[in-house]
Amino acid sequence: MKISEIGEFGFIDAVKEGTLFNPSSVVVGIGDDGAVYKTTEGMEQIAVIDTMVEGSHFIIGKTASWFDVGYKAVASNLSDIAAMGGIPTHIVLSTAIPTDMEMADLTALYEGMKDICKTYGVNIIGGDTVLSKGALVITVAAFGEVESGKAICRSGAKPGDVVAVSHTIGDSAGGLDVLLHGIDGYTHLKKAHQFPTPQIQLGRALVAYRAHSLNDISDGLASESNEIAKASGVDLILDKEAIPCSEELRQWAQSVQKDIYAYVFNGGEDYELIFTMAPDDFEALRREYPYVTAIGQARAGKGQVYVRHEGKTSVLQPTGWNHFHR
Ligand code: ADP
Ligand code: MG
Repeated sequence: MKISEIGEFGFIDAVKEGTLFNPSSVVVGIGDDGAVYKTTEGMEQIAVIDTMVEGSHFIIGKTASWFDVGYKAVASNLSDIAAMGGIPTHIVLSTAIPTDMEMADLTALYEGMKDICKTYGVNIIGGDTVLSKGALVITVAAFGEVESGKAICRSGAKPGDVVAVSHTIGDSAGGLDVLLHGIDGYTHLKKAHQFPTPQIQLGRALVAYRAHSLNDISDGLASESNEIAKASGVDLILDKEAIPCSEELRQWAQSVQKDIYAYVFNGGEDYELIFTMAPDDFEALRREYPYVTAIGQARAGKGQVYVRHEGKTSVLQPTGWNHFHR
């Protein structure tokens, strides 16, 4: 059945069940003009929003299924909440739906959203539904909270800080390439692209361990590290060899004869975290979270990022490896 046969209200009825995964904080959910929710005493509220457009952010049947799109539309928002050190609580969403879209595909889209919302105890408390004459567009806004005064901004990096990242970098862009080539295997890279894990637990640990600055890696390490350097007014010196890369990404880059650092610096959609903190605090964090890796240091400067490699230091532009002189 197509969405045009069931209509806007039939569609809302079909998806509104099973949308609350932490109902105690919801006063009014889907079904009224607005949602009403409770906030926690002593916490400040975080709001983020992200849009995905069919054809530019994903290609159904090639880079993603409808389930994946729903999952990822929420994941990218939860990653932004993690990047403030927060706990996600609720989402609202807007869908512009092609008139000939199958209800089964829309249901799959919602299953993907519900799957990740369930994992993190996040409520779906409202949305908007319009018909699109073109491709599907989905916008998700997420809300979360963090202890008052404890949100971790991009602007807090201090000279002497360790610069670190979580897990491995560049896998999502590698996964996208593998999917576009229609190649079997490389399950780790594909998973990194289709089901990124928002680093909420680590974001919370970074609050506990007093990280000074924090960003999620949605636009590539070059862009995100430059955002921290610029906002903080310090220089970041990264050790190229220290940046953690997965074995699958090495294999893939080698098999297509591409520079692995193209994926690392300019890839994007990793949804890992980059952060800076005092060296002692970093060591304590690393004992508890062994998947964090130091990749450099912050020092007094003008907001530039440098990459050190084989005794040479070069500027890393926000635009990434294209302008990266080796
Ligand atoms: P209004 O006309 O007052 O804006 P709508 O008729 O658009 O309300 O929506 C009715 C209810 O359904 C609201 O609670 C709204 O948040 C919810 N809703 C609408 N579209 C969606 C959607 N795509 N996903 C989830 N909830 C939705
Ligand atoms: Mg209304």
